[in-house]
Amino acid sequence: MKTINILLFILLFLIPSALFANKEQVVLQLSWLHQFEYAGYYAAKEKGFYDKVGLDVIIKEMNYLRKDSVIDDVLSQKINFAISYSSIIERYLNGDDIIFVANFLKRSPLVLISQKNIKLPTDMIGKRFMGGKDALKNTSFNLMLSQFNISEKDFIDVPQSFSIDDFIQKKVDVTSIYLTNQTYTLNKERVDYNIINPEDYGAEFYVNNLFTSKTEYIKYPNRVKAFKIATIKGWKYALEHKEELVDIILEKYNSQNKTREELLFEANQIENLILKSVYPLGSIDINRVKRIADTYVQLGIVKDKSRLSKLNNFIFEPEINNPIFTKGQKEYLKKKERLFLCIDPSWMPFEAIDEEGKHIGLTSDYFNIFRKELKIPITLVKTKSWSQTLEYMKSRKCDILSLAMKTKEREKYLNFSSAYITSPLVLATRPDITFIDDLTTLKDKKIGIVKDYSFEKTLKDRYPYLNFVQVKNVDDGLMKVIKGEIFGFVGVLPIAAYKFKESYLGQLKIAAKFDEKLELSIGFRNDEPELVHIFQNLLSRIGDEARQFIYNKYVAISYESRKDYTLVWYIVIFFVSIILVFVYWNRKLTSQKEETEKLLNELKITEKLLEEKNEKLEKLYITDKLTNVYNRQKLDAELEKEIYRSGRTGYKFSMIMVDIDHFKETNDEYGHQVGDIVLIEFAKILGSDLRQMDVLGRWGGEEFLIICPHTEKEGAIIKAEELRKAIEDYNFTKVGKKTASFGITTYKQGDTEESVLSRADKALYEAKAKGRNKAVFLL
Ligand code: GH3
Ligand code: MG
Ligand code: MG
Repeated sequence: MKTINILLFILLFLIPSALFANKEQVVLQLSWLHQFEYAGYYAAKEKGFYDKVGLDVIIKEMNYLRKDSVIDDVLSQKINFAISYSSIIERYLNGDDIIFVANFLKRSPLVLISQKNIKLPTDMIGKRFMGGKDALKNTSFNLMLSQFNISEKDFIDVPQSFSIDDFIQKKVDVTSIYLTNQTYTLNKERVDYNIINPEDYGAEFYVNNLFTSKTEYIKYPNRVKAFKIATIKGWKYALEHKEELVDIILEKYNSQNKTREELLFEANQIENLILKSVYPLGSIDINRVKRIADTYVQLGIVKDKSRLSKLNNFIFEPEINNPIFTKGQKEYLKKKERLFLCIDPSWMPFEAIDEEGKHIGLTSDYFNIFRKELKIPITLVKTKSWSQTLEYMKSRKCDILSLAMKTKEREKYLNFSSAYITSPLVLATRPDITFIDDLTTLKDKKIGIVKDYSFEKTLKDRYPYLNFVQVKNVDDGLMKVIKGEIFGFVGVLPIAAYKFKESYLGQLKIAAKFDEKLELSIGFRNDEPELVHIFQNLLSRIGDEARQFIYNKYVAISYESRKDYTLVWYIVIFFVSIILVFVYWNRKLTSQKEETEKLLNELKITEKLLEEKNEKLEKLYITDKLTNVYNRQKLDAELEKEIYRSGRTGYKFSMIMVDIDHFKETNDEYGHQVGDIVLIEFAKILGSDLRQMDVLGRWGGEEFLIICPHTEKEGAIIKAEELRKAIEDYNFTKVGKKTASFGITTYKQGDTEESVLSRADKALYEAKAKGRNKAVFLL
């Protein structure tokens, strides 16, 4: 009896501990503090998915005081699993035995934000970049900035305060942020900002990467697998029950004291970055890992290439978790049997249907790649015109539209992929026009635009002062420019370049570039939503190098022609800006052949020279030859800009019109040449003490105009008085004393250029009437 009792006791004692022993404890280390970014792991724990596979998972936050890296802790088995960035790929290539178990964020939330006027990486030069030096250590930023040759000496590095307030208060111009959390504050405070996303410059790093060590994997292969499966389940649950997960975080994991609203915002952002309708949850695409690996090699971060071919050993069960298509997508394709494609029959170099009825141009290369990956054929449906193409898409005669801009109207019947071809809009003019930087100088000039182009409205809204006129098509527009019927034509760069070369060599040039870009996507009938996901996935598998290769194959300046020096110069003369623009956009070229690189360098030098020339020409164009201050043309443009700005923002600017008293007498008495010297000296005095933003120009004859932005009546009167005094006190060469009269006015609501000018004129007239050497203000 006693023994049985003891046995029972032992059993009773042992059973729970046996059960407990059955649960294996593992530690998961997060890459940051608790937040929605890890919701899937919390769900797996709290909803019992880990439990079911016999795991007791301890989730540890990042401790940012620690010195050694999480990767080292995993390698030494202090931790079983951890989450990290794409640096695990780098570490693997550099010899560490890491196993990449699963990936959850397909897009990186780490981006740069910049103040409104900073749009491109090159705009950051000379600006205050908070945490800039550290940001350069991040591979995706490094990759982006290195394409523009930007290094830490090109910006002002401001130490990282980790406070977004410094950005909001404009103490810094650029800083890095995590899209998923920090934009919440910015949006809430209605801060104006730009996002500079390394992904737009070819960086495509995986984030939220679950990994373990090879030792762990060899010891417990089933445990690793079980952990992965349960985690994926957790993520599925978390994305389907975002609010519940937010509640769980608020209750158990809210070390950052986030609000519900913030967490919900983050939840939606995270969901966007997971792209679960496109990629299976947790999946790792070996091709993408290869591309990331190539990037590390390219940047020189990884020197030893021996592991590049061994990425299979790095990815956990790659064959299982790397299907191209989900089950549903495969079934859809099987049922569909054949896909019908519609294209624009005449839009070279993008695409066209040739005499034999074949699809040619840039998009044909893309579709040939898709054909290789898809199990079913894609058949071209011939159309006669773009409008017929759109008709066929509407009536579902076609499933796919190869190239189209996403518009509200089209979204009624189409789904769109992300933009896969982007092209800047440029202005084509006759070759004798100098490069135009400031589009306001084009006021009243007729600018042709093809009827019904999707960007017509955008341009009209953005540039209300330009006089857009519709033309039938690109050729019609370009011919009108050549004949002088219109000043310029707005077109897409590759097309302009293509036409120049095909038909109008030497008769046209690119004289300006718009900020707007044409972004072109693939369209899909929206009643079969599988299509967009299938193709988005196919698109994402085409690497940058391939994209660049295709682009270069079709767009204007081919490598062969660059080798021919006379042709280079021919191009230089007639296509000045095409080269400028191309060198700028062909940032990827540097990774191409050495020879190309050399030629590119030469072109860069040419570009520099041309840029300087252009600058000089432009300066000539806007300055007065005699006095070296701005000329009337520039004043007109500036005035227009100020009026436009004041009308929109409500701040005021002032204007001072100056006229030399009895100047005719000076000429009569001392001669024109002395008169000219007085004019030069006069302009010098006017310009000697102006603020940077003030604009001084010669309005005509012996009249000058000063435009003072952000200046009210009082400030303008004081300034005019100072100038009046300075002139009165000055001893002019040969002539001695001279005086001048001043007419001052300030912008008021509803003013036009004519109305402010005539007020200033009237004020000046009054100053003369009052006996000259006076300053009069009129409103
Ligand atoms: P007030 O303005 O005080 O009424 O008298 P004013 O003599 O200055 O009158 P007005 O504006 O009629 O004369 C302007 C003169 O400026 C006429 C012209 O001889 C002279 N002028 C205009 N442009 C130039 C120039 O480029 N060089 C020289 N030397 N003289 C110029
Ligand atoms: Mg005058
Ligand atoms: Mg005068």
